[in-house]
Amino acid sequence: MNKPEGWNVLRDRLHIRKSSTAIRPTLPILRPGVRLFLKLLVCFTLSTAVTFIAGPELQNNSIWASNGLLLSYLLLSPRRRWLAYTSVGLAAQIFGGYLAGGEPWQINIALAILNIAEVLMAAFLLRMQATHLPKFTDRSYLIRFFAFAVIGSPAIVGAVFAVIAHQWVHQPVFTGFREWFMTDSLGYAVATPAFVAIFRTHFRGTLKSRWSWLYPLLLAPITFLALHQAQLAALSIISSILIFILLRLGMGWASMATLLVALVANLYIAHGPLKGGPSGDGLNSIVHLQIYLASILFMLYAVSVVMGQNSKAEKKLQEIAYLHQLVTENSRDVIIIADFDGNRSYVSEAASSLGGWSREELLGLNSIELVHPDDVKVAGKAIRDMRKGADGAIIECRVKKNDGVYIWTEASLRTIRNPVTNAPVGILNTVRDISERKVAEEKLQAAYQAMESMASIDALTGLANRRRLDEYLETEWRRAMREHKPLSMVLVDVDLFKLYNDTYGHLRGDACLKAIAESVGEAAARRVDLVARFGGEEFAVILPNTAAEGAATVANGIFAALRSRNLAHSASPFGIVTISAGCATVVPQLGQPASELIEFADRALYVAKGLGRNQICAAPASTVMGPGQGDAIQQTN
Ligand code: GH3
Ligand code: MG
Ligand code: MG
Repeated sequence: MNKPEGWNVLRDRLHIRKSSTAIRPTLPILRPGVRLFLKLLVCFTLSTAVTFIAGPELQNNSIWASNGLLLSYLLLSPRRRWLAYTSVGLAAQIFGGYLAGGEPWQINIALAILNIAEVLMAAFLLRMQATHLPKFTDRSYLIRFFAFAVIGSPAIVGAVFAVIAHQWVHQPVFTGFREWFMTDSLGYAVATPAFVAIFRTHFRGTLKSRWSWLYPLLLAPITFLALHQAQLAALSIISSILIFILLRLGMGWASMATLLVALVANLYIAHGPLKGGPSGDGLNSIVHLQIYLASILFMLYAVSVVMGQNSKAEKKLQEIAYLHQLVTENSRDVIIIADFDGNRSYVSEAASSLGGWSREELLGLNSIELVHPDDVKVAGKAIRDMRKGADGAIIECRVKKNDGVYIWTEASLRTIRNPVTNAPVGILNTVRDISERKVAEEKLQAAYQAMESMASIDALTGLANRRRLDEYLETEWRRAMREHKPLSMVLVDVDLFKLYNDTYGHLRGDACLKAIAESVGEAAARRVDLVARFGGEEFAVILPNTAAEGAATVANGIFAALRSRNLAHSASPFGIVTISAGCATVVPQLGQPASELIEFADRALYVAKGLGRNQICAAPASTVMGPGQGDAIQQTN
């Protein structure tokens, strides 16, 4: 079975694995121990490098990124790995500091321990509040990040450092605190989001346009130039490019780019033209450089939070649109959107399964074109009503399939309105194949008619019943009246049937009645003649367009048919089952009721009984046959 396209989308959403044997390119599979070792090695190398770049004068550089790097490792790993990472981080900071030179090794170790304590404090505080992974475009996470990592931990550890520095080297407490706090705080603000982004962002996927990589590439020389110049105008170019990168490539790249700017600034301070610390105006002051970087970061975060919120709304919309698509594409009903002139703007996938039409064919056809000519009126009226303001309609109509055959459908029409003016602008049509239902309905109708006809048939004899006889008589009476034709009736009553039942029992009586019914039926052979059980042991024959002679013939035929059966009736003076019959013929006149024909026939029958049974009488100028004769008709008065 071909699965609908929606299935593929759903499978991708739910990450259901394809059952195919296609092998996806994967990274070489390493044993978990080896993987961890490699990760720790990378952590050590990066930390050492970042520490080394920061230079020998740890407290004098503008940005201390080493802590930010380690914090990103901790935030992305389970707590059981924290010991390993902090140990590696500690070793790397001591080693990096040693490589950079400057500080005596005891101070190097002491500072590294303070740094690691600060990172752990920030990590614990952040983890305490949230178990999920860091998300710097989420406002609440960002606030916590600022509170704990950018401000809280550096402030506490900075205070400890300031006191120790004051004791050891008599550095003013505030200066010590400011230096520690500013460098570490900026370090977290710049490095943690950048490294989290580096470790988590699928960077290749973010380079949507071909020229996107130009921005980060452009940034490098401009940063060098701008920082070298240390002019406000030059520096503003850096901010513009960073904003561009953020908008085009996202927070991952923007953080990386900021990291690059910070790195260049650090290099200038530690090894370049800014070496030697604060000296005068502009960016030649580390404090100003720090403030400048902090403001850039603030701007980037503000923009990214707004973008994050926008993309949340966009994602929600996409989600809704996707669900809509899933419903419409997987519905067995065909969903069509058209304007009031029948021009379609949307046709769902199910179109092909309903009429064999392709989506494109249906889009090109006018709505009404496929409707059966006999149903166009109904469909047209529904559409006109909706155009005038009706909310919708449900109609049943036949629709042409692409092989030319019509199928029954139910169209559920709904008015589409302009959301602002509420004016009707189009139709949402949900079409369902109801041919099976129609077949069932027809069968039901046939069954109902069969039941109806059963109700007009006498169960014992299979002849028409009294109800049918009355209906038929009424119809034929009116026809005869219109056409001035004679209408005849033969009324038959079994002679001494009570005695028959008494002699042979009721069941034999029933069988006898069936045989008599057959005899009556045999004699009235014309299609238009109606033979009915009049009631009890009485039968009637309606003979349209038949004169008195014809009626007599039929009556004689009945007598002959019964006699040929020779049914024994020991209690009867005739020895066999006999009947009496009354015939009547009328050319109905205006205002004359049909019941008169029955009355005449009944009267004639009464005469026949009175004359000794087993004979035929005709009314009104009745002729009476002799007992058991059946070959002549006698007149009664
Ligand atoms: P006659 O008409 O010759 O004057 O005598 P009769 O005995 O036929 O007249 P009556 O009208 O008194 O009796 C009719 C009998 O027909 C009474 C009833 O038991 C019997 N009968 C009527 N319908 C049925 C039926 O469906 N089955 C059977 N077995 N008997 C029936
Ligand atoms: Mg009777
Ligand atoms: Mg009788």
